[in-house]
Amino acid sequence: MSLDLSQYIASYPDYPEPGVLFRDISPLLEDGAAYAQATDEIADFARERNVDMVVGPEARGFIVGCPVAYKLGTGFSPARKEGKLPGETQTVTYDLEYGTSSLSLRKNAVKPGQRVLVTDDLLATGGTIEATIELVEKLGGVVAGCAFIIELNELNGSDKLKDYDVLSLLKY
Ligand code: IMP
Repeated sequence: MSLDLSQYIASYPDYPEPGVLFRDISPLLEDGAAYAQATDEIADFARERNVDMVVGPEARGFIVGCPVAYKLGTGFSPARKEGKLPGETQTVTYDLEYGTSSLSLRKNAVKPGQRVLVTDDLLATGGTIEATIELVEKLGGVVAGCAFIIELNELNGSDKLKDYDVLSLLKY
């Protein structure tokens, strides 16, 4: 029996600042059946696209991506804030609403030609996932799909992902 995953999303008005409606996947993560279903649906999407590596941005991209990688039997590599990864890294800087941020990936994380799923909890403006994609592509990887538990329609993040296959389990 399939669960209605929307029942496992909490919404917090005015968090983290006034005017923002924060969508929180915590209740989904805290329910074994809901977390498993979300993981299975993303893993099915990835398997259909012959994914052989998973990359997710700090920090909730790890929570979504790691069980998917386990399910697929692939590796997972975290895209982390600049300065958090040892060794040789590739870094990209991207725009936030106010200011900029940077994400880094280990240079050996992705082999040229590898088919990569990039995944995060939520797609908003798309800046975070766009930076993650750029990292994968700079290392020669092929982004075979992008997957999210939630997509916020009004922020138009999918406009940045027109060239990619995208799965969003829930849309608001
Ligand atoms: P974007 O870069 O604007 O697409 O924002 C997506 C990133 O910000 C993701 O890594 C999310 O975890 C985080 N984020 C933005 N809005 C929300 C929200 O309403 N709930 C949870 N995370 C959010």
